[in-house]
Amino acid sequence: MSNIDFELLRRYTEIPLAAEQLLCKPEREISFNLSLKLAPDRLLQADSYVVFFNTARGPAKGGLRMAREVSLEETRDLAERMVWKTALARIPFGGGKSAIAIDPAKLSRFQKTAVIKEYVHTISLELGHGTYVPAPDMGTDETDMAVIFGELHIPECVTGKPPRVGGLPGRREATGCGVSHVVRLLLQEVQNKAPVDATVAVQGFGKVGSQVVLFLHQAGAHVVAVSDVTGGLYDPNGLDVPALFDYARRNGSLEGAPGRRISNQELLASDVDVLCPCACENQITEDNAPEVRAKFIVEGANGPTTAGADVILNQRNIPAVPDILANAGGVIASYVEWRKAKSGAITDKSETFSTVRNRLSIAFEDMLRLAEQRNCSFRTACQISAAEELVATLRDREWI
Ligand code: NAD
Repeated sequence: MSNIDFELLRRYTEIPLAAEQLLCKPEREISFNLSLKLAPDRLLQADSYVVFFNTARGPAKGGLRMAREVSLEETRDLAERMVWKTALARIPFGGGKSAIAIDPAKLSRFQKTAVIKEYVHTISLELGHGTYVPAPDMGTDETDMAVIFGELHIPECVTGKPPRVGGLPGRREATGCGVSHVVRLLLQEVQNKAPVDATVAVQGFGKVGSQVVLFLHQAGAHVVAVSDVTGGLYDPNGLDVPALFDYARRNGSLEGAPGRRISNQELLASDVDVLCPCACENQITEDNAPEVRAKFIVEGANGPTTAGADVILNQRNIPAVPDILANAGGVIASYVEWRKAKSGAITDKSETFSTVRNRLSIAFEDMLRLAEQRNCSFRTACQISAAEELVATLRDREWI
């Protein structure tokens, strides 16, 4: 099922039937059984997927997820989000995603590298032709992207590589940089508040969440709650962020970190200005949406709010900046990396961050304008903007 409520969208903008037909289902999907002999008595098998949801605007772009429970449906859902995200950010990429259903925490570094190499061998045609361009997502990192590059030696076949291997300085932090920029825009333009007067709660302390915490802390905001899969920490006066980073670096997670412990459910119900769910899908549901006390939500993760929860949050007048805008910093930086790989240009970190912030500011202003003009939620406003861009693209391509 599509993430997009086309019936709702058609109330606000014209979407020809042919466009809807092309945008509501994936162009192409690959499923394979990744199998690898890890030891004389151990055969690893993992269901694996690549989804090309729509490539009208360019190569299918989207991360490689490694997680035990990941399914084709989840990969498809994430690929569809990329179609709307890249259109909203006006980047010449389509939307895709890939996934390997395996728990990376159960693999040694050596085994993970072997799995990634097998993944590359299976889809080497697609990667080699640049029709699908992966990047890190949950369970994968820069090193994995370096392994993909190493198998093909095509600099633009993958983004999110370490800077020494053709990666982009600042790509690692780009998604979190973008989410925190959106939080700041929201505070400034909607709440008329400086970061130093604001409180935030961040769920997830991985590649995205930890950087959101760091950027917001550096901006002077009070980060009062953080969490990872092991649970959370809370301090109404603001957590000691450098100490948390130090702890997570030494211990690999926030488990056992000193301070007042809270559950993930308590974090989601924190009384804060902005709640940033930056962990995984389906965290704010019909069950816990009535408990949310944040004034605003900024979705760092993909799909953290279910459709039912969204209705409740709208009724309760808690605006949510959707994932397709809030976490687009990663794909914006990926575009810069991809372009740099083709041209050989050199980019520094500050240029990466300013490109991310500039693109997101434009999309944010557009969201505010459309939400006001058409009297709709932030989520619908972002979808209207992306839909209009996608319809125009499909016409340019003579696909409709
Ligand atoms: P990650 O694997 O680096 O980190 C995930 C974090 O969430 C970890 O701290 C983990 O402990 C925590 N977590 C996992 N399940 C949880 C649960 N049930 N409850 C609470 N915490 C939980 O992943 P990431 O790259 O930071 O991605 C996080 C989200 O952001 C995903 O939805 C991903 O698709 C999205 N995203 C990532 C990027 C990127 O550049 N990495 C870009 C755009 C969107």
